Amino acid sequence: MQDCLFCKIIAGEIPSKKIYEDEYTYAFHDISPQAPVHALVISKTHISSVAQHQELSDAELAACLRTCAKVAELLGITQSGYRIVNNCGEDARQTVHHMHYHVMGGAQLIERMA
Ligand code: AMP
Ligand code: ZN
Repeated sequence: MQDCLFCKIIAGEIPSKKIYEDEYTYAFHDISPQAPVHALVISKTHISSVAQHQELSDAELAACLRTCAKVAELLGITQSGYRIVNNCGEDARQTVHHMHYHVMGGAQLIERMA
């Protein structure tokens, strides 16, 4: 999609620190990490948020979660644990309107999320 930051990252028009890529997903390091490990997992098909889930196939949706777990393995936090976060819409403070999952770990995270 035109003028979408994450679509430009997938296309290689904006640099990113890639962790993993497959047919349906792309994973890279967050530019402003909120935890020692902070990765982003995005669907290669643009949808603005989970609210548009109908526009993705079941395979694409499932791939996002599998890639989150894959990224955790690649970054060595499977045993220690991690949090997967998806911000959807204004009240959740979503800032980039291309659906993405945050994968965070590498230390004990704060208890509260809100
Ligand atoms: P959200 O607030 O859930 O929409 O998360 C957007 C995330 O994208 C934030 O954690 C940002 O730090 C991250 N971000 C923004 N621009 C970039 C970029 N160019 N490369 C990597 N991460 C980015
Ligand atoms: Zn996009």
